[in-house]
Amino acid sequence: MSQIFTHEFNTPVYKGKTSFHTGLYINGKFVEGSDKTTIDIVNPATGKVIAKVAEATPKDVDIAVEAAQKAFDTTWGLNMGGSERSRLLAKLARLMEEHQEELAALEALDNGKTFSWAMNADTAVAIDTIRYYAGWADKIHGQVQETDEKKLTYSRHEPIGVVGQIIPWNFPLLMLTWKIGPALATGNCIVMKPSEFTPLTALRMCELIQEAGFPAGVFNLLTGYGSTVGAAISSHMKIEKVAFTGSTMVGRKIMEAAARSNLKNVTLELGGKNPNIIFNDADLDQAVNWAVHGSYWNHGQACTAGSRIFVQSGIYDEFLAKFTDRCRSLKVGDPFAPDSYQGPQASKAQYDRIMEFIQSGKDQGATVHLGGDRNGTEGYYINPTIFTNTTPDMKIVQEEIFGPVGVIIKFEDEEDVIRQANDTLYGLAAAVFSQNITRAINTAHRLKAGTAWINCVNQIHTNVPFGGFKQSGIGRELGEYALHNYTAVKAVQVNLGYVM
Ligand code: NAD
Repeated sequence: MSQIFTHEFNTPVYKGKTSFHTGLYINGKFVEGSDKTTIDIVNPATGKVIAKVAEATPKDVDIAVEAAQKAFDTTWGLNMGGSERSRLLAKLARLMEEHQEELAALEALDNGKTFSWAMNADTAVAIDTIRYYAGWADKIHGQVQETDEKKLTYSRHEPIGVVGQIIPWNFPLLMLTWKIGPALATGNCIVMKPSEFTPLTALRMCELIQEAGFPAGVFNLLTGYGSTVGAAISSHMKIEKVAFTGSTMVGRKIMEAAARSNLKNVTLELGGKNPNIIFNDADLDQAVNWAVHGSYWNHGQACTAGSRIFVQSGIYDEFLAKFTDRCRSLKVGDPFAPDSYQGPQASKAQYDRIMEFIQSGKDQGATVHLGGDRNGTEGYYINPTIFTNTTPDMKIVQEEIFGPVGVIIKFEDEEDVIRQANDTLYGLAAAVFSQNITRAINTAHRLKAGTAWINCVNQIHTNVPFGGFKQSGIGRELGEYALHNYTAVKAVQVNLGYVM
């Protein structure tokens, strides 16, 4: 029997109780892992263990794949019409809405993000995502290709089958919905692995998925480590597709495992080191506000974080002064305090990684203009940090830090900044600030990134495709584009009169 996690929230922003299973969710039931081991889940605000969840093994991956395949062959896949899939997804969205505060509180507890952002961003967009794909489920269609009168030729967009989905810890619930929405709308069955750091909302979602009435085996959740469960999913011979969100380093391993096993279809949403370009003619106050949001939102733990901030020389000093003031005013503290902007980093490992980057910036000769140090003595808090006087080869300019660390770089002209902005192995997102719309659009078009924002940053819409150029990924999530990740196109040719 799997364990139950119970927690009473008694905070200024949310009061309520949550209670749910912490086992593996396989074939509609919560079970222990086959080795009966568990993973400690830590509250990053305190560094203390708050829960133990079952640890899956590769053997559990086999069991989950079998359950998913059975569901695909009997109750889901081509056996369940689109309108019924739509109804179930819409019901799930409604249940999420009913439990939105509880989900947001769990996300804040487990990940350290503030309750208010978890309410207004993570859970709100997660609900929208499921509702959006509920709308697509009965609109999946192929085409008729006109060939000649003795032939009927058409294409079908069939579900792929059993798909593996592996997600990170920075937006645990949101990433879950980006994955399951299009996969379920198109009729696939899922074996998912959440991050070992932040599995709580995914576990709570299993109960909502069950309550919504999805047949057993359609969605299976395996809490476990990447090197065991993640590796087993990406190399599994009966998983036909793997969708991954996480670091570029692990994305490479996933693709390699897929190539070495059954050549499964792979989509990857990977890291970023995103440029944010602010021209002399930008609305300065707006550019400052957006740049702060771009670099420090979600504690800088956003793949889209605009943490390479290029500022044109004519406004550099004024921008830096205003930007510094705004950063100083960001309140770092308890995720459940009403005025906190930034909570703790999500884990000790991530905290250590960020501090190493800060040290490397200092060692390589950059100036710590603000912050660069720990906040408080308990938990994994880091003060918003600004680096200046960098050179393009520095680690803090080239590599994804994934923390509250912005690098401000002065530039002179458009050609120079576009060259510098594109000088990265990543290509996830970019932003341009200018009141000259021609300059803004031309620059946006020349940046090698899957998303280019003009006079804004970190904007995501459920119906707008999202994904990376270069080593930031393969494939697109959200919108109609994401549906293509989860369907196999079959051409059917019917002979209406040819005689052999
Ligand atoms: P990560 O790559 O360390 O882990 C992601 C997931 O992969 C986790 O569930 C982990 O357990 C699993 N994993 C680890 N090793 C594995 C292996 N060998 N085989 C299979 N799975 C394995 O990433 P993270 O630290 O959890 O998340 C941060 C990263 O995610 C950042 O690089 C960030 O940019 C990226 N990210 C990208 C997007 C996007 O949409 N492009 C969104 C969010 C996060």
